[in-house]
Amino acid sequence: MICDNLSVSDTGRLQMADRPVTDLIRQYGSPLYLMDEERIRYNVRQYVSALKETFGESAMMLYASKACSFKEMYRIMKEENAGVDVVSAGEIYTAVSAGFPMDKVYFHGNNKTDDEIAFALDHGVGYFVVDSREELRVINEFAGKQGVSQKILLRITPGIDTHTYEAVATGQVDSKFGNAIETGLAEEITKEALNLPNVRLSGFHCHVGSQVFDSDTFIRAADILLTYIADIREKYGYEAEELDLGGGYGVRYLESDPTLDIKANIAEVGQKVFDKCRELSLKVPAIRMEPGRSIVADAGMTLYTVGSVKRIPGYKTYVSVDGGMSDNPRYALYEAPYTVVCADKMKEDATLLTSVVGKCCESGDVLQEKVMLPDSVCRGDIVAVLTTGAYNYSMASHYNRIPKLPVVMLGKTGERVVVARETVEDVARFDR
Ligand SMILES: *Cc1c(COP(=O)(O)O)cnc(C)c1O
Repeated sequence: MICDNLSVSDTGRLQMADRPVTDLIRQYGSPLYLMDEERIRYNVRQYVSALKETFGESAMMLYASKACSFKEMYRIMKEENAGVDVVSAGEIYTAVSAGFPMDKVYFHGNNKTDDEIAFALDHGVGYFVVDSREELRVINEFAGKQGVSQKILLRITPGIDTHTYEAVATGQVDSKFGNAIETGLAEEITKEALNLPNVRLSGFHCHVGSQVFDSDTFIRAADILLTYIADIREKYGYEAEELDLGGGYGVRYLESDPTLDIKANIAEVGQKVFDKCRELSLKVPAIRMEPGRSIVADAGMTLYTVGSVKRIPGYKTYVSVDGGMSDNPRYALYEAPYTVVCADKMKEDATLLTSVVGKCCESGDVLQEKVMLPDSVCRGDIVAVLTTGAYNYSMASHYNRIPKLPVVMLGKTGERVVVARETVEDVARFDR
């Protein structure tokens, strides 16, 4: 199957971590997010060990928690000795509540509000990844009031186009994120940061995009950033201690997507970093990488129950399920591809061309077009959308006042509910 934590039982039922998912949906209700804890840990260990092997003890993996954020995720990252990225007070609060060590938290975002900056300082967030000069000044002012010297990285835009979806590309000069080297903004903000009394510049950050399948992008980014570091040392006598290369490695949503060898890729990036540092006589900075999607995507799946199957002769067959863009908005947002299967009929031939759609009142509420399902598909069958661990739960909404789904984590032995199912009362809870 598309990921090796998935299998099919003798009776033709889909299994995740060796457990029939149809039993789980019967037990925990429909629709349902499932996550495989061992797969999450395996993915983290790939990065953690590859970074250590390539760059030594100073390197650290940061889990970009926007991909999937709830308390249990921070507990797992703490146990695996990873750091985390956060992008809002809500994510900071969740990490704090889970007992995550705040010195390993990196606070990102292109528009951190004053309240969020104060909140992050109050909670002792380790690093701010500063995106603009306005923000830099506010952090300096607030840190001064608290009498602390706040560690920061500056977000630099290397000017790279990653050929990924436009909505998730972030490395090009005109991005809303960061400060481009090309326009001189990067140097200006660096100069200012070096002159402010209450921030301590630890180094530089870049993030060039998402769903990237080659090391080439990271190698180009590292090359540009190291050249920048050498340039800044030349001009200002400051040598960066940390270089954060961002996230973005891709995952397999379809059988036709390539598989990625994270270890080999990081080793390739390492080779380039070492060569470049030698060429520029730079000390190799402490390297950070920030995977989000590639940590959680293949550890997740979403299960639905089929309702109506509408066959429009000569046109299309719609298979409607009991969720939709409210729990997985990515197809509606940018036609993100997914593999969709009938979880209780895995051994039947998939001969029926269908559109799998949600129950929201909007024609754009499509989970996936052109899905092949067994011709016998009918009300009550279980449909699984695979590889939904990233950017599904975290992007869910209450559209149509549909309660959000629970997350059930499959552990080594049993399973546990890590996010409870919302009720209709929850949906109306804040109405006055
Ligand atoms: C989104 C994001 C990531 C993670 O990207 P993935 O594609 O999920 O790996 C890492 N760093 C920053 C700054 C991000 O915005």
